[in-house]
Amino acid sequence: MDRDKILLTPGPLTTSLRTKLAMLRDWGSWDAEFNAVTAQVRRSLLAIVHGEDTHVVVPLQGSGTFSVEAAVATVVPRDGHVLVLDNGAYCKRAARLTSLMGRRCAVVDFGDHEPVSASVLDEQLKADASITHVVMIHCETGAGVLNPLQAVADTCAAHGKGLIVDAMSSFGALPIDARTTRFDALVAASGKCLEGVPGMGFVFLRKAILDSCAGQSQSLAMDLHDQYVYMEKTGQWRFTPPTHVVVALAEAIAQFEAEGGQPARLARYTANYRTLIDGMARLGFMPFLDPAVQAPIIVTFHAPGDPRYEFKAFYNAAKAHGFILYPGKLTQVETFRVGCIGAIGPGEIEQAVHAVELALQDMGIASGEPAI
Ligand SMILES: *Cc1c(COP(=O)(O)O)cnc(C)c1O
Repeated sequence: MDRDKILLTPGPLTTSLRTKLAMLRDWGSWDAEFNAVTAQVRRSLLAIVHGEDTHVVVPLQGSGTFSVEAAVATVVPRDGHVLVLDNGAYCKRAARLTSLMGRRCAVVDFGDHEPVSASVLDEQLKADASITHVVMIHCETGAGVLNPLQAVADTCAAHGKGLIVDAMSSFGALPIDARTTRFDALVAASGKCLEGVPGMGFVFLRKAILDSCAGQSQSLAMDLHDQYVYMEKTGQWRFTPPTHVVVALAEAIAQFEAEGGQPARLARYTANYRTLIDGMARLGFMPFLDPAVQAPIIVTFHAPGDPRYEFKAFYNAAKAHGFILYPGKLTQVETFRVGCIGAIGPGEIEQAVHAVELALQDMGIASGEPAI
């Protein structure tokens, strides 16, 4: 069968036919029609976080990590000091890129099964006055933990520290309100909960810090301030834009708005999540996280305890039944992950659970029950 498999991965993810069809045209990067699409996308993105009065949004070519790196380099002065709240793989990536950008970087480690803590952050900020910025991940896609954005933002505000939020896997699905949550930069991308295709990120920058960002980035291509100034002046991207990605995102946002925006998206993903958890429990699988700290974005499951289990074979068997799973990203325990996001609903998730059941049968495994 040449039908596309359903992607149960946190980006790229399954997109609608309408979004895919938007990519069948060629656009000139200088052309007024394409510039109008870019402007519309930027207006829509700002509206999603209610940031019209307080923030600007700057799109950037590349995968999401490019935009995280650009945000750190643009927002943090070269002699700044960043504290990363670490509860997983994407936090560790943020810390690494911060160090590589030449910024002094400290990490506070929380372990990957629990949220980061605003009260621990408060103590850290009291103990070390040299910290200028905090980096947090809203939904840690590594294990799937939801981190307390509001509490961390309030703590940073109380101490007068900058906050950079990686909201890559939450933006569009979980509520984020720039009017009540103070952040200097918040980063997301086209190919996650907005259900566009991968290829561009975007960063919300607080207007109050914009001017101070000039010249801070040591990179030409990743300088968000320069990208912003040029885009405001010309309506164009500084360098070749990912035209097909931009028009697909515009189409994906139109569907997002028609569906009912963020609340509707969260409702659908929550239904996907519940269907997944219930179905997998019927097969004996156990989620890694306490449901109280779990975001309805991606679920980490313990691997089955059966000695015949092996991820690659399991992956291939599920793929043969039409579904693409995602490997685990934890170092201590054997796990795999299943995404709840993309242009899919509970019906597809039921089918995915059935595909997992068939995959276990193919491998001669009676139950998904873990060894522990
Ligand atoms: C997807 C994701 C990113 C970006 O990853 P890329 O591979 O660069 O697209 C960054 N942070 C989080 C939390 C993510 O889920």
